[in-house]
Amino acid sequence: MVYDAIIVGAGIGGLSAGLNLAFNNKKVLILEKNGLPGGVVTTFKRGRFEFDASLYDLMDYGSVEHIGSIKRLFKKYNLDIDTSPIPYNVRIKALDNQFEEVIKGEIDDWVLRLEELYRGSMSTFRNMLPILKEIDEALKAIKKGKKSLEDYPNFMKYIDMNAYDALVDLNIPTNTIHILGYFWIEIGSPLNKLSFIDFAECLYKLIFKRPVAVKEKNTSFALKLAKRFVELGGKIYYHSCVKNIKLDNTSEVTLTNGKTYKAKEIICNTSERYALKNLIENELAFANQKENARTISMNGLVIYLGLNKSYQDLKLYNYRYYEFQNLNSAINIKSMNKLYHHTIEGIVPNIINENASPKNTTILVLKTWYNMDAWKNIDKKNYYQTKNELAQSLIHEFEEAFHVDIEEYIEEIEIASPYTFKKHTNWDNGCFFGNMRLGYDNSINRLLSYQDELIPHLSFVGASSVFGSGVDNAFYSGYYVTEKLLEEKRSNYE
Ligand SMILES: Cc1cc2nc3c(=O)[nH]c(=O)nc-3n(C[C@H](O)[C@H](O)[C@H](O)COP(=O)(O)OP(=O)(O)OC[C@H]3O[C@@H](n4cnc5c(N)ncnc54)[C@H](O)[C@@H]3O)c2cc1C
Repeated sequence: MVYDAIIVGAGIGGLSAGLNLAFNNKKVLILEKNGLPGGVVTTFKRGRFEFDASLYDLMDYGSVEHIGSIKRLFKKYNLDIDTSPIPYNVRIKALDNQFEEVIKGEIDDWVLRLEELYRGSMSTFRNMLPILKEIDEALKAIKKGKKSLEDYPNFMKYIDMNAYDALVDLNIPTNTIHILGYFWIEIGSPLNKLSFIDFAECLYKLIFKRPVAVKEKNTSFALKLAKRFVELGGKIYYHSCVKNIKLDNTSEVTLTNGKTYKAKEIICNTSERYALKNLIENELAFANQKENARTISMNGLVIYLGLNKSYQDLKLYNYRYYEFQNLNSAINIKSMNKLYHHTIEGIVPNIINENASPKNTTILVLKTWYNMDAWKNIDKKNYYQTKNELAQSLIHEFEEAFHVDIEEYIEEIEIASPYTFKKHTNWDNGCFFGNMRLGYDNSINRLLSYQDELIPHLSFVGASSVFGSGVDNAFYSGYYVTEKLLEEKRSNYE
């Protein structure tokens, strides 16, 4: 049998691509090397705790007034996913700046607080809001194929500016700029290297298309997507690791166990670099050039803690905690070349979901990031010791920074290193967040060059694709890429 498409990987991008193709009555097979769908969106049990590995905030979801792309797609596929809005409730500390603040309440509350801290924040922030909206509209127009952008003068003005320079141009006070930049640590690009368009898109989503928490566990969410895909006629084979892909009008995919499958289109949900180096048999010089020009994002260490006290007793009152060396994102990201540094994120899921763990217990997820080379000298001999020492130092750092006692209440602990993530996803160096949206390799250039970069019969979805990492981007990429396949002349289906 020749499938219309074979998708390599049942991560969120792969599942989303499968959903859209199956929804359009295409014959689709997903081949997944692990025993469950979801990729890094997965759940694991330790004792009486069930830990979600990655998805805590689902961005671009929105509300009734500002419906986001993800909610719209869930509705289209008739996916019943229960969510709850995530409150702004972030405690930030920056060591060098002796800065400690809780950003809480609604957007107006924190803009008011920023105004109290740094005069001029409120008016300049408000003046920026219509610009964010215009940029969102311009990006939507590009996604729909619009080429002339004169209707979007601010988009054109800021198209080549980095986020830091653009915020200065908008007269936002310097310290407010740094605070607005704190969550860009996830993208791994300092504000002075991140395109303002990417910054504006994320900030717009954060303010208007409010992020939500998915009420069920990561695995159960991924299983719902997989179940719906199968209901729509798709097939998923688990424990099916792809070893080789031969691209042609009818492409052939071979598994490590020797089985082969044929399809008209191949969609990879794996890292582009991994696929081009290890899976694709054909000569793809041009594709490799493009790939080499991309920067893979940071990797990191995640410590999943099951604590045997309630979050109230532990005095963990905030949903999210950040400790930074400095408020300036460029200084922070540079510090991540070393294994021991001071940037930590903590998430307490119990704050928004009382049932995140058994009664009178708490889950705390601590995370830190590294630039790609930080782990390069860690080999098998010193791996476990390094991992454990780093975890211990992070726990102590968190306790000291936020004046809480954690260590004596640990009932369960799991530490995931870059190697854990590498094993699970096949991303080089176990990176967390796909290809960075950095400098010229920003979302506009990726969108504008999408069609030119295509390799016949091969597409990429997920963190390796046009929109970069994040569950929302991975899901949206699955839709976008398959829509292009369905619409464009390139489509091999007819
Ligand atoms: C610790 C952590 C926390 C995060 N928190 C959030 C968050 O709160 N919100 C958010 O939006 N994002 C978050 N992210 C990012 C988000 O989870 C990822 O960007 C997103 O899930 C990536 O999805 P993907 O489709 O690219 O697939 P991946 O999850 O990378 O999945 C790829 C799939 O391909 C399969 N595969 C690989 N090679 C082969 C092969 N040869 N044959 C068959 N199958 C193969 C893998 O097994 C895997 O299932 C977090 C990430 C991490 C690591």
